[in-house]
Amino acid sequence: MTRAAFIRNSLAMGIGFPFLTNFISACGRDEFQVPEFQTDFSGKVIVIGAGAAGLAAGYLLQRYNVDFQIIEASSVFGGRVKRADNFVDFPIDLGAEWIHASPAILAEIIDDPGINANIDFITYNPQTFKAWNGEKWTNHNYASNFYSEYKFKNTTWYGFFEKYIAPELLDKIVYNQPVVKIDYSGNQVILQTEDNNFYEADKVIITAPVKVLQSNIITFLPELPTTMSSAINSISMDDGLKVFIEFEEKFYPDLFVVGRFLQSLSGDDKIFYDAAFRKDSTRNVLGLFTINSQAAPYIALGSDQAIFEKIMEELDEMFEGKASQHYIQHVVQNWSKEPYIKGSYSYNFENNQEDTVNTITAGLEDKVFFAGEGLSIDNQATVQGACESGYTAVEKILT
Ligand SMILES: Cc1cc2nc3c(=O)[nH]c(=O)nc-3n(C[C@H](O)[C@H](O)[C@H](O)COP(=O)(O)OP(=O)(O)OC[C@H]3O[C@@H](n4cnc5c(N)ncnc54)[C@H](O)[C@@H]3O)c2cc1C
Repeated sequence: MTRAAFIRNSLAMGIGFPFLTNFISACGRDEFQVPEFQTDFSGKVIVIGAGAAGLAAGYLLQRYNVDFQIIEASSVFGGRVKRADNFVDFPIDLGAEWIHASPAILAEIIDDPGINANIDFITYNPQTFKAWNGEKWTNHNYASNFYSEYKFKNTTWYGFFEKYIAPELLDKIVYNQPVVKIDYSGNQVILQTEDNNFYEADKVIITAPVKVLQSNIITFLPELPTTMSSAINSISMDDGLKVFIEFEEKFYPDLFVVGRFLQSLSGDDKIFYDAAFRKDSTRNVLGLFTINSQAAPYIALGSDQAIFEKIMEELDEMFEGKASQHYIQHVVQNWSKEPYIKGSYSYNFENNQEDTVNTITAGLEDKVFFAGEGLSIDNQATVQGACESGYTAVEKILT
């Protein structure tokens, strides 16, 4: 089975990240290729969103010397690829963190075989695994025999984009401009932003997360056809949270879960992990990655401080007060609260993923196109999936 097919099947079975790639080493290698084609396109393209999909789209448009702009709602590029720089002595991935593929995927994303030589990776295969059942711990170190994937050693996913993709695009990105209306009734597509600024283009690529599309922040003129809005609404994207806490001592195993071990690795993940594992660091940083129904009770608490206090309470119970005793500092990244993200990542297409994706990526009247992690058939919910979807949308426009 190829990696892509494995991921697809795992998602269908409700197996979530980071564990859905448990058996990745047993999978065949998928090729990721930046598309190459002939084009005589001479119009203007606007990309909505400067996350992985939008940046990849810009990267390809730049290669083909197309006139384009990227309109971003927030004040930064990256979207769900985000970095905390000054937290400890290594940069922290507040969003995407694992490379859910062979590291060779990085060179393939930007079509430059040379770059892997300049990036240090770690093999992420934790050695100590435990589960807490509310009263006692059980060991699950056998998991180290089958779980292994990759992470960046001294950089992050954000650092990758910052170094290899964004530099050529910086003067094309317009920040703090949430698009609220897309009028595709005429020859040109007219975008209106929250500040009542207007932008015009021949073609538009929307990379806003599906949850943003579902929330009707953006209105369309004419309205979206029912088939399109039904397809968009059939994709799930629920809560997402990451928290990092620095301690004076490492009193926890490399990876631990609350509840039954294998069940905790289902689609509704809640995983505590040593975020400094094999990094160039002497600091002790515990990460919490949680999505969907496992993240929801934390998100419902409202403030970052309330979320942090709840997690500390849980850790103190598990580790007999050691969390409070050794606490230094923390950072909370609540993805559900980000106004232009609104959650973690997409999954569960009511068992009809390919049709759903094809309906959405068919676009609107050959003028408005859609991209983003949720619209990659083979690499959904990953950074490379987002890039792939951005490239596919550009190829559709230019060919
Ligand atoms: C907690 C968490 C952990 C993850 N872990 C991993 C991992 O380990 N490995 C991995 O490969 N992937 C991981 N992912 C998934 C990965 O981060 C995403 O698949 C990918 O970054 C999504 O890119 P995107 O461009 O599709 O969307 P986004 O990154 O969400 O970009 C969309 C952009 O559109 C902008 N936007 C939205 N609405 C508007 C509007 N109206 N006007 C203008 N701009 C707008 C947003 O501000 C944003 O910048 C994780 C995600 C989360 C949340």
